[in-house]
Amino acid sequence: MTHQSTATPRTIAFIGAGNMASAIFGGMVDAGYPADRIIATARSRETLDALEQRYGVSTTQDNAYAVSQADVVVLGVKPQMMHDVCQALTPAVQNRKPLIVSVAAGITCDSLERWLGGDLAIIRCMPNTPSLVGVGASGLYATAQVTEEQRGLMDEMLTAVGIVEWVEEEGLLEAVTGISGSGPAYFFLFIESLEAAGIELGLNAETARRLAIQTARGAAEMAFFSEHEPAELRRRVCSPNGTTERAINSFEEDGLRDIVERAAKASGVRAAELA
Ligand code: NAD
Repeated sequence: MTHQSTATPRTIAFIGAGNMASAIFGGMVDAGYPADRIIATARSRETLDALEQRYGVSTTQDNAYAVSQADVVVLGVKPQMMHDVCQALTPAVQNRKPLIVSVAAGITCDSLERWLGGDLAIIRCMPNTPSLVGVGASGLYATAQVTEEQRGLMDEMLTAVGIVEWVEEEGLLEAVTGISGSGPAYFFLFIESLEAAGIELGLNAETARRLAIQTARGAAEMAFFSEHEPAELRRRVCSPNGTTERAINSFEEDGLRDIVERAAKASGVRAAELA
């Protein structure tokens, strides 16, 4: 993101500046968003001092004060803290009516609306951990009150740490959770399995790990940059009766596609249970 907007930059309060929230505003600042338009809150003064030093953002331990300054409020606390944090913020939120953005897994727009006193524009965001290294994938849902300008601002904020996909029904955030929210762990498991297979085949552990990680990275980069879809890239590396084809046939016979579908559905079901 280069910050190109000609409008006055919006002031954004991050309530609960932990891993996820600081990854987002850190990416924004690195991409040129003015740090003096970002206010971060957390419980510990030490955490806030470190964030202030690293990114030049403003910080406070007073959530209501941060909200009183903000056009956008990003709620970054853990889901189990959300109810209490929201209720304490109701007067400041109702006074200012900022755009509310939640990154908390499983907390619905209805709950946020109720806890914060109603009549608000709300965006729910399901980010994932690679946002911490600028290669995140976020799924977003906006309630009817959210304006095009507010959607644009969210695009700008989140593309600083990865890609953004909007869904038109809140329930689809469960699918997003099953694919990209939980997804990094699926790929870690695949890397672990490939590493273990390499050791089984006689490679030393370090070599097996390095080859497995770099192969995952290379395949992801090829899929990302290529004009061809992943299925075509796969076909292109499978020469008839070659080594790769033999391995792919083994995966297909063992039902890998069904295994992946069941896992993604299981994550989505759990996301629905948490909501
Ligand atoms: P975290 O523990 O790193 O961050 C939470 C922050 O909230 C901490 O800095 C803590 O000091 C602060 N906090 C707690 N109570 C507070 C209060 N009363 N007022 C102000 N600040 C307070 O957690 P995280 O991993 O960044 O997760 C945060 C949210 O992001 C969660 O709701 C989670 O569901 C969501 N999320 C995380 C991931 C992920 O991969 N980490 C992915 C998707 C969604």
